[in-house]
Amino acid sequence: MSAEKFEEIGRVLRENKTFAVLSHLRPDGDALGSQLALGLSLKESGKDVRIWNEDGILEKYNFIPNAEMLTKPPATPQDVDVAIALDTAIQNRLGTAFAAVRSPKVWINIDHHPSNPGYGDLVYVDSSAPATGQIIFELIKNQNLPLNRAIAENLYVAISTDTGSFQYPNTTTRTFEIAAELVRAGVDVGRVSQQLYENYPRRRLELLREVLATMRFDADGRVARFSLTRSLADRLGVVPEDNEGLIDHIRAIRGVVVAIFFEELADGKVRVSMRSKNEDVDVSAICQKFGGGGHHLAAGARVRGSLAEVEQKIVEAVCDVIGNKS
Ligand code: 5GP
Ligand code: MN
Repeated sequence: MSAEKFEEIGRVLRENKTFAVLSHLRPDGDALGSQLALGLSLKESGKDVRIWNEDGILEKYNFIPNAEMLTKPPATPQDVDVAIALDTAIQNRLGTAFAAVRSPKVWINIDHHPSNPGYGDLVYVDSSAPATGQIIFELIKNQNLPLNRAIAENLYVAISTDTGSFQYPNTTTRTFEIAAELVRAGVDVGRVSQQLYENYPRRRLELLREVLATMRFDADGRVARFSLTRSLADRLGVVPEDNEGLIDHIRAIRGVVVAIFFEELADGKVRVSMRSKNEDVDVSAICQKFGGGGHHLAAGARVRGSLAEVEQKIVEAVCDVIGNKS
């Protein structure tokens, strides 16, 4: 099935000239790395390529090769032959990038979120892939698209960040084989890892210190949570990317099965971020009850209400599901 789908996608890539490669707002390493990798590969094939994200490139990812090619979308829509959404479970998470694309002949949707409903004309959703970057690698290899050092480094960033640095359970033998191929293609593992994991602004640790002070436990220590208020975020000058991965600190506690991070937003909603350490506790299903989604072990939602209200509702829902699982 996958070879046929790659063939179909490959044909559309070969037969068209202008492309817009997009991903979700509040992008992570998988979103940005996948966009740049596929965009660069198309450009190397002589295509006319735009790489747009509502938030542009994040400061944290400025180091990735050809980062400058990823820009915010233009205010005036542009005509393209093909629009490609990567790593984006629901189409409206493309934000302003969606509006910048006018009447493409084909919409391609490549993703690894199980909750992806399969929007678009050509859909490739593989929820067993630990990162969209892994699917892009397979597509590039299968369709003989260009793969150089810059493309490899972008794919490595995508895969490393979405697997928690090759730690999450969906990291497979194939993931390591791909990583080996990427290193062979020129990825500087030490440099990339240092940029990704040892290059935080001091502000992020100041933030961690404050949110750790709000840490609480439920269900006999199996549910851990902490939160960030608007006023604290303003006081510290927090930018959204500072939050990425903060939740890992409470997930890492012995005995914790579900970790939850609550962030008060400016629009009367609370951003909920959830992680599970037990395959039998599906946090994506919990988040879907609140209008969100994601993966089995990593999910999120935006829930209307005050921080206290949302915390209470969500913790109750988690405790219901967790039962006596540990
Ligand atoms: P994070 O907690 O890192 O923000 O998100 C974890 C996962 O949950 C991501 O893969 C993301 O796709 C998904 N997710 C986070 N927030 C939302 C949301 O508001 N709606 C949906 N559908 N998925 C979300
Ligand atoms: Mn992803």
